Amino acid sequence: MSFDALGAARTYFDKAAALLDLPNDVAIQLRTPHREVRVECNIQLDKGEIGTFIGYRVQHDDARGPFKGGIRYHQEVDADEVTALATLMTWKTAVIDVPFGGAKGGIACDPGLLSDAEKQRLTRKFIDGIYDIIGPTRDIPAPDMNTNAQTMAWMFDQYGKYRGYVPAVVTGKPIALGGSLGRDAATGRGCLFATEELLAALGESLTGKRVVVQGFGNVGSWAARLMAQRGGRIVGIADITGGYVNPAGIDVEAALAHASGHRSLEGFTGADRVAGDAILATDCDVLVPAALGGVLHADNAKEVRAKIVVEGANGPTTPEADEIFRKRGIHVIPDIYANAGGVTVSYFEWAQNMQHFYWSEERVNDELHHKMKQGFATIYETTKKHDVDMRTAAYMIAIGRVRDATVLRGL
Ligand code: NAD
Repeated sequence: MSFDALGAARTYFDKAAALLDLPNDVAIQLRTPHREVRVECNIQLDKGEIGTFIGYRVQHDDARGPFKGGIRYHQEVDADEVTALATLMTWKTAVIDVPFGGAKGGIACDPGLLSDAEKQRLTRKFIDGIYDIIGPTRDIPAPDMNTNAQTMAWMFDQYGKYRGYVPAVVTGKPIALGGSLGRDAATGRGCLFATEELLAALGESLTGKRVVVQGFGNVGSWAARLMAQRGGRIVGIADITGGYVNPAGIDVEAALAHASGHRSLEGFTGADRVAGDAILATDCDVLVPAALGGVLHADNAKEVRAKIVVEGANGPTTPEADEIFRKRGIHVIPDIYANAGGVTVSYFEWAQNMQHFYWSEERVNDELHHKMKQGFATIYETTKKHDVDMRTAAYMIAIGRVRDATVLRGL
């Protein structure tokens, strides 16, 4: 773990808990994860030797519904990072008001070094290790960094070997296996709706706004594409290969075509290449960090020129940077709301699977829009009522809802 994600999650929790006058014993109960599982996953690598990987599943809280959260494959995955992300999921499902709790999982591995066959074996081994603690009414995994619909298909299939046909055990599945229309774009679409809601509250619109997006995977590429379709001018994009800037506006469809043909933005000619994190200091109105955690920190927060930061990624802003943004009057749309579109449509997918009744894409997008609007209205009202920033407001709402459910359920 490259930055203290767990410390950041606790800082944000503690600030909101103090404003809610949360009794200490309840605060400890809400902060403490319900279950932390670590499994050894041994697989045969393509070259013949055995590869040993460590997988994690942390179930943070299920007072409001089954545990819910993605599974990431990344070299920096460790117990603390997974715990921090599981905690964020509890607040995310609560603030967007879907009937789930919070969990997260991951496998410490470098997915770039694994073949598809190795990834499949690793995914199945991981499910062998956790199948007895997941399920549609217990804990429902989903994709996250470096995992996708194919990964969910393998998970669904491996789980089925133990429990039969249970599509609702994971979300973010391919459509052919019970996935939901609109799930792929949902997190990026949610970022768009969140941005439009804030701009509307400020008496503005996305038309002509200069947008920079860091990360060109599921979240970032959809956010860039949809914001461009809604009139935003995408002046910077970035992936692991570097940043690409064009003040006149990047042709996002061309960038998408390049990325799908080359598996990255490397060699994209429709913009000037800039070094790594320099993209974050690009002159723009809206900055969407949609890659890693901790990328906006004390050392670069003063360089950020955006007026609005939309946290597509989980935990992209350290508490120190958050404070700098607050003092500089930069609006931060917090991750637990900004990127909740994914878990919201995961909820729609789960509901469709449970009912064996499937919705049109239009209905999915309309319901998502409704949820994001409702979420924003509650957060914005709380910022005014308590004179706090949007992150603190979102945490106050979420913690209050989880507290109420916890107290009602009793010990
Ligand atoms: P992804 O694996 O599809 O894409 C990640 C992108 O980030 C890739 O383009 C990669 O090249 C880029 N990247 C990696 N390191 C980088 C670096 N150092 N600088 C610039 N770019 C870099 O992952 P994703 O699903 O889009 O998730 C991105 C973030 O959004 C994560 O923080 C994840 O937890 C969060 N998130 C994802 C979802 C979802 O539905 N996928 C939902 C909520 C939150």
